[in-house]
Amino acid sequence: MNSGNSPKQTIRRKIDMSKMPNHYDPVEGRAVELDDLPWVPFPEAFSDGGIRWKLLNVAPELGSWAAIFDCPAGSSFASHHHIGPGEYFLTKGRMEVRGGENDGGETVTAPAYGYEPCQAYHGRTFFPVASEFYMTFLGPLNMVDGENGQTLALVTWQAAQAVWEASLEQASTNA
Ligand code: ZN
Repeated sequence: MNSGNSPKQTIRRKIDMSKMPNHYDPVEGRAVELDDLPWVPFPEAFSDGGIRWKLLNVAPELGSWAAIFDCPAGSSFASHHHIGPGEYFLTKGRMEVRGGENDGGETVTAPAYGYEPCQAYHGRTFFPVASEFYMTFLGPLNMVDGENGQTLALVTWQAAQAVWEASLEQASTNA
């Protein structure tokens, strides 16, 4: 693959614009006031104890989604891997992440921030007291039936959006 050109000569070669990617404009900003959105039940297939949530944003260009969760005392999330990293802000209560501090993980008390890396495994995320947290998910959640278990569902930004929209529809039907 050596064309005989130095890197500098290659850079100087005239750029064929037809081979360039399409031009993209900056993505529009967006904002939401939380009181404008209803709390809806988070799917029971993925949680226990009456967790409710609000989907705040999806960013298809990043594959990310952002949500806030209302977690009653004793509630929990089912086992999952974070395929991409995630950042959270615990605004109220207490959260046991990766099993909590008594099981090799962490227990955080609000206000608390946390970063979970790519492939983080969360066997059981538990809320011993009424809690609330915001989280941005870069990439999907892989819901599994144990650390090396089968995938039960892949929660991409699209899946999160579909679940949220179905819940809104349900809520408006019940209203
Ligand atoms: Zn998690």
